[in-house]
Amino acid sequence: MKPISTITVASELPDALAPLRDLALNLRWSWRRQTVDLFRSLDPQVFVDSGENPFAMLPMVPAGRLAEAARDESFLARMRSEVGDLRTYLDSGRWFQRTVPGEQGTGQGSSIAYFSMEFGITPTLPIYSGGLGILAGDHLKSASDLGVPLTAIGLLYQWGYFSQSLDRSGWQQEEYRLNDPADLPVEPVLEQDGTQLTVRVTLPGGRDVEIAVWKAQVGRVALLLLDTNVEGNDESARQITDRLYGGDHEHRIVQEIVLGIGGVRAVQEYARVTGGPAPTVFHLNEGHAGFSGLERVGRLIEGGAGFSEAVAEVRAGTVFTTHTPVPAGIDRFDASQLRGYLDADENGLSRLIPSLPVEAALALGIEEGGDIFNMAQLGFRIAQRSNGVAKLHGAVSRGMFQNLYPGFDVPEVPIGSVTNGVHRRTWTSAHMDDLYKKALGDVDISSMSDWSALSALTDHELTSTRDALRADLVAMARKHVKDSWLRRGADEAELAWTDHILDPGVLTIGFARRVSTYKRLTLMLSDPERLKRILLDEERPVQIVVAGKSHPADRPGKEFLQQLVQFADDHGVRHRIVFLPDYDIRMASVLIAGADVWLNNPVRPEEASGTSGMKAVLNGGLTFSISDGWWDEMKDDAAGWTIPTADVADQVERDRIEAGALYEILEQEIAPLFYERDARGMQRGWMTKVRSSLVRIAPQITAARMVRDYVTELYLPASRAAGAFAADPVLAGAFTEWKARVGQVWSQIAVRDVRLEGTTEDRVATGAEVTLSAEVDLAGLADEDVLVEAVLGEVADGDEIIDPQLIPLRRGDDGRFAARFALAVPGRVGCTVRVTPQHPVLSSRAELGLVTTA
Ligand SMILES: *Cc1c(COP(=O)(O)O)cnc(C)c1O
Repeated sequence: MKPISTITVASELPDALAPLRDLALNLRWSWRRQTVDLFRSLDPQVFVDSGENPFAMLPMVPAGRLAEAARDESFLARMRSEVGDLRTYLDSGRWFQRTVPGEQGTGQGSSIAYFSMEFGITPTLPIYSGGLGILAGDHLKSASDLGVPLTAIGLLYQWGYFSQSLDRSGWQQEEYRLNDPADLPVEPVLEQDGTQLTVRVTLPGGRDVEIAVWKAQVGRVALLLLDTNVEGNDESARQITDRLYGGDHEHRIVQEIVLGIGGVRAVQEYARVTGGPAPTVFHLNEGHAGFSGLERVGRLIEGGAGFSEAVAEVRAGTVFTTHTPVPAGIDRFDASQLRGYLDADENGLSRLIPSLPVEAALALGIEEGGDIFNMAQLGFRIAQRSNGVAKLHGAVSRGMFQNLYPGFDVPEVPIGSVTNGVHRRTWTSAHMDDLYKKALGDVDISSMSDWSALSALTDHELTSTRDALRADLVAMARKHVKDSWLRRGADEAELAWTDHILDPGVLTIGFARRVSTYKRLTLMLSDPERLKRILLDEERPVQIVVAGKSHPADRPGKEFLQQLVQFADDHGVRHRIVFLPDYDIRMASVLIAGADVWLNNPVRPEEASGTSGMKAVLNGGLTFSISDGWWDEMKDDAAGWTIPTADVADQVERDRIEAGALYEILEQEIAPLFYERDARGMQRGWMTKVRSSLVRIAPQITAARMVRDYVTELYLPASRAAGAFAADPVLAGAFTEWKARVGQVWSQIAVRDVRLEGTTEDRVATGAEVTLSAEVDLAGLADEDVLVEAVLGEVADGDEIIDPQLIPLRRGDDGRFAARFALAVPGRVGCTVRVTPQHPVLSSRAELGLVTTA
């Protein structure tokens, strides 16, 4: 994007209104309704015409209207109040400042760099496609609310993700809209001399690509956006940041080079020009930015480190989050293609990343026995701390990547989990927000975990709120269905029926998400006749609102979508089931808030977390879900319904059984409870469930909880680990030497003569004390280089110890390693002895993949 008219725009505003530009440029308005209302009131029609875009609307407001507002004392007072509120928000100490003491680790003077391929913050900054981006956007908003010192890095795409419409037959049509830089709420990052900050990467053949750095301000958090559409670049370089998830592998590799390598250079330059803290922790939101690790390794080597030392140091400060339990969801490239980009010189060092030894770097990501470079594997190798996005997803990821930690059982694979969350202020409707204020007070609840005061909300309050939200959804759906039919070629005159579809008094089920096979959009169509009976039930009717885009290249996805649209087109049911094209953030907030029940029926365990159901919970919707993703760990019969998972391998049979359970629960439990009224006409049972969901589930699914977990479980430990390397210049060298020595002798380590004493029989009473001892040959290593442990636990079929308990053994006077302990749990107990390496730099037992057992 060429730097153009953002400055001109400001000059056109009357002086008295100049603060509007700053207000529009801080995206904090995307979660502060009062600021948006201020812009709307400036000129309601222009506000709508601009796509509800406070920044883009300013140059569109007629000069007369601006002059009028500049004289309007009440408008000016509201503007000052919003400016004051923003200033207070930016200046006041927050959770992080209260919780993390000054000079410690990430405290003051250092920061976290957060990399993501997409960010979903507001529809006016269309650089996202779906869940991953919205999660990243919510992460930034909560980091801002909590005062976490984070700088984000992403790409500024010339084209937004496509908008979706349908043809007459219900087939998805895609249309891409050009992002006009003048309309985007971003500013160039400026050098001291006033020119825009740029960084460079060198592609093969010495082709320099210049990358312009822009900034979107998200509350306190700066989001740096990289843009290769720069005057001096050749045509193909200008197209690198053309669009999100378009193009072939080649294109994706180059985008990831810009994001990862350009991103590290940009965030460091940004710290220089702003005088702000340089990042010490690097968080990779999915594997796309994995090359950032290689860039940092290269820098350390330039500074004199060896390759292994540099990797150890980079690992210490890196956090990697994996987002998919489906192998096909991981970026995998031809190693030879990547080798071409790393472009080795005659010494084997990269021309893309100076000083980086190319083959050693490739070895970090190349899959065993192949020539495939796996970005997730690079993530795990370059990040000492990593996580999945829900407990179940963490467990599935440990299984998926067990081969990277040979010799260790799945539970010990060092991949943890931080369950996703959603930004409360962004995803709570105004109606519902009023109830929160009423019950909890007008306080910042982002760091509160006790929301039990919500149980005081009355049936009446909840009913009127839920009715209003459902009515908003119905009104939005009628308009969208009519617009959609006009685009599908229908005539206005034949569309009167669209004014009467859906019913604001009928139980409303919502289903909206990306159309991917595993999410099973069409599961509800398994038995179309049964679904029709449910929708058309005379006493207890049900209505369903569906939305979602299919990836343009996903034919099966488009076929599912077409099936659903064709079912919904049927005259007999079209008033009870609708498909709304062009699902995006704006539609999501009305659709999700208005649904009484949010349906989620993925193939377990393929939904890593899912977040739309969390947004429903915040608005008093109830969850109806397969036990997968976030619901697997939070499911609660008092707060929702769980569709049992069929344990059969055949997918068709499994779909049939799970669909049957879905219908059954809908007919037998959900609809009866919704329509049950007490003597006062209140939905007593239903609202009791809503209160349980708000009190028990809502506080757990906020992005504030998620970001606090990232800070305490990952960012602070990573910051301390990175700090240890920074504080001790010989640590990296000493650790690398130690690691090499341990690796060399490890195969000679032996455990012999294991003795279990204290019992003569093979049957003992619960609580009996025994002594386990072994002779361990450490092959020249010192005692403190290893941990010798008893592995103790129930023996299951296959003679494996499951869920082992680990008890450290110490060296006794006789030279043997031993421990005395009680056998507390009845059952068939097995034990053995194992040795693993031990060093302060290591954060998990399995990290080096070395273990010796008796
Ligand atoms: C929340 C959201 C998503 C993600 O929904 P999942 O349940 O995680 O699939 C996708 N798109 C939009 C527009 C959203 O608001």
